[in-house]
Parts: sequence; C-alpha cells; structure tokens
Amino acid sequence: MPLGWYDLKVAAARPRVGDEAVKRKTLNAAFDVFVRIPLVAKALARTPCYNARMISVEEALERILARVGTLGEEQVPLTRALGRVLAHAVSSTLDLPPWPNSSMDGYALRSADATGASTKSPARLEIAGRIAAGHVADKPLTAGQAFRIFTGGPLPDGADSVIPQEEVTTEGTTLLVARPVKAGEFVRPRGEDMRAGESVLERGRLIGPAELGLLAALGHAQVRVVRKPRVGILSTGDEIVDLGGLLGPGQIPNSNTYSLTGQVIEAGGEPVPLGVAPDRLEEIEARFRWGLGCDLLISSAGVSVGEHDFVKAALEKLGAEQHLWLVNMRPGKPIAFATIPSTGKGALPVFALPGNPVSAMVTFELFVRPALRRLGGHARLQRPVVQARALAAIPNPGRRRGFLRVALTADESGGYGARLTGDQSSGILRSMVAADGLAVIPGDSTIAAGEMVPVILLREVR
Ligand code: AMP
Ligand code: MG
Repeated sequence: MPLGWYDLKVAAARPRVGDEAVKRKTLNAAFDVFVRIPLVAKALARTPCYNARMISVEEALERILARVGTLGEEQVPLTRALGRVLAHAVSSTLDLPPWPNSSMDGYALRSADATGASTKSPARLEIAGRIAAGHVADKPLTAGQAFRIFTGGPLPDGADSVIPQEEVTTEGTTLLVARPVKAGEFVRPRGEDMRAGESVLERGRLIGPAELGLLAALGHAQVRVVRKPRVGILSTGDEIVDLGGLLGPGQIPNSNTYSLTGQVIEAGGEPVPLGVAPDRLEEIEARFRWGLGCDLLISSAGVSVGEHDFVKAALEKLGAEQHLWLVNMRPGKPIAFATIPSTGKGALPVFALPGNPVSAMVTFELFVRPALRRLGGHARLQRPVVQARALAAIPNPGRRRGFLRVALTADESGGYGARLTGDQSSGILRSMVAADGLAVIPGDSTIAAGEMVPVILLREVR
C-alpha cells in the first residue's frame, strides 16, 4: 500500500509563494523559533495530554494498518454474494464456450466450397441439415453441403465458417453463396471466453454483477467470501439525544451514530448499534463492553482534553493499548486508535473519533475505512484520488493539513472542477452533504483559482 500518497499529490499542487510572502514567512519563523515556540512549549509541558506528538496522516495510517488483519471466511449462496469479497482465487473448470458455435443466424459451410464465389458465379451448396441453439448436428457436414444454423448452435464437424442469412439466397434446398468466405468467419471458437485451468478471479476481488455471472458459469452455487466486519458504534455525550427522544435544554440530536452507520455499510461492514452513553466513565466502559464481540469498535466524542472527556480513560480500563491520538489534519485532530487484547482472537481495534459531525466522518474516511476494508479482505483500501481544477481559491489557514469539503463538477474535457462547499467549520453537516470529495491541501497555503488540487473522491460526481 503506497503510504505517503497524499504527500506526493499535495507537493505537486503546492502554490508558489511571492518574494514578499517569503520575507514575511522568514520573520514569522524567526519569531516562532525564538519567542512563540519556547513560550507555548513551556505552557504545554504543564498540560500532560499535550505531551503526545502530533503525527502525520500517513504515519497514523501505517500504525493502524500494522495492527489490522483480514477476517476469516464464510459461505454464502451466489445470489447473496453481490458486494462481498472473494475469499479465494477461482480457476476455470471448463472451456467456455465448450465447442465452436455460430455467432449469427445463417448457414454453416466449408470455406473451401465458396472459393472464387461471386454474384455472377455463386457457389451452389446443398442445404443438408439444421442446427438450432441447444441441439447438435446428427451427422458431419461434407463437401458441397451447408447446414442451416442459428446463433449459439454448435458448428457441425466438417464446417469451418458461417455466412449470415442476410447475405445469401436459396432456391428450394440449394444455397447460393455469392462471395468467398473466410475460415472461422462468424464462428465463436471453443474456449474464447475462458479455458479450463485458467485463473479467472483473484482473491480479494469485490464481487459485482459480472463476477456473479462468471461464478454461475463455473457452477458456483455457493461462494466463499470474507466475513463482513461487525462494527460496534457508540456515541457519547450528555447533550446527545437519540432518535425518538425529546430534546431537553442544552441537548442536540444524535447524528453521528447514523452517519457512521452509513459509512460502515458503504465500506462493507455490518453496524452494531451500541447506543448513546452519557459523559460518565462507567457508562462508556459498560457500552464498550457490549461491543467486545465485534470485529471493530468506533466511538464518537469525548476524546479531547476536556474534563468531561472519558473515552480514553474507559479504554484504558478495558486494558486497551493506545497507538495514536493527535493527527496533523483539519478537521479532526484528536482521534485515538487503540487495541483491546482479547483471548482466542486478534486484538480488537478501537477508533475513538472526535464528536463534531464532520470531524467524525472525515476521520472515518481517512482511518476507519481503510482498516475496515483490510478486515473485510478488500484488495483496494483507499478511495480514488482525482486531480481537480480549483474553480475559486481554496484557502487552508492554520498549520494542519486540510481535508476540505469540495463539490465537484465534470468539465467538458472530462476533468473535474472543485469548489469549497462553504464554511469548513467541523460542525456543519450540510457542507458534508454537499461534498463530493475532500481536497487535500498543505497547512498555511491557498490553492489559487485555476490551480490543480488532489481530491479524495467520496462518491460518484453527478
Ligand atoms: P466532543 O468531542 O465531545 O467535544 O464533541 C464535539 C462536538 O460534537 C460537540 O459540539 C458535540 O455536541 C458534538 N457531538 C458529539 N457527539 C455527537 C453526536 N452523536 N451527534 C451530533 N453531534 C455530536
Ligand atoms: Mg463532549
């Protein structure tokens, strides 16, 4: 898996900085080095949780994927296999088609019998047999003969070609062929689609409609697929009221559980709702315990440094080992990834995502989705990245790398144009609704209108 792919693409899109700006940046940097950084560092050193180092998106992903393996397999009926991941490679057990057959309605013949045929002097052949699809000739075709044949009908022994019915005339039981015919014309050779022993589908392939057809052709009424990851989803927060509840003073509706449920399903997982826990250590711990039988756990909110943020403490009580916390990205800096050791199977991966609706969704995209796809056996873990032209300036103020919501439009040349979906505040779910992708922009920089920017595609562009 090419880690560092964002870096490469971001570097290519980095805008040029003018002389004035360079001077200003140098002065700022000097001020940072001698004044601001020592002061801030001193202050932060007193805050224990800030002693954690902020790591890059690539490093975070590397740490995550190093701890996530692929689940075991299960057998499903072919008709339930769409969208599943093939657990083993498939080889063909037969030649398909099993015999040469006609690709047209017409007449089977020997090309040698039509040598030199023309309108003036047509070849005259005796119509001596008839082969419909699903039937075979009861005798071989001999010199001077033609057999009536229909699409899919097996070519009779002795014939090497077919001439379509539109190109011939008949006189009683005589066929008139007014042009030469090439050997193999309008014949689908044996094994044209696949040959016995040939490898036709690889392990890890997503089963789509064409794969279903191929598997059916090879007689697989049942298919072995990678088990779907079961994903426990927990929302936390005193202020969060789930569907069906009434909002009290200071409370807001639970949206994260449902956005995350959708993302889990889209990534091939099976969501397991763990409800909403208030900001209390024991409650959060208890709900995580409900989810211990899952293959992956996700929580949202309560993972920052506030006095009411208990998610990390709850994970510690469950014996979790934490592998990362602060990631250099906007939105969504605080995101914890931990593993809970469990007996009899691999450690259980847990993602504690930030609470803001957009931060939760974006951190899911960047970290949970690849992990889920690894669990689910997908060969491809990442979303596609396209290069889009900024239709207006896309600024990314602040030092963190931006994953900014953009709407894409397809332009005449088949490329994409990108425009911010509006305010990038991490609480604005509607700007996520409007987003087709996430533009990846280095910290402290602006992509000017007309410049290219890499965009992680979240959905088909309409
Ligand atoms: P926190 O990470 O706990 O500081 O929460 C950050 C913000 O996200 C707060 O404004 C929360 O109210 C909001 N938030 C947390 N959980 C949810 C949720 N399940 N649905 C919608 N908003 C949430
Ligand atoms: Mg909170």
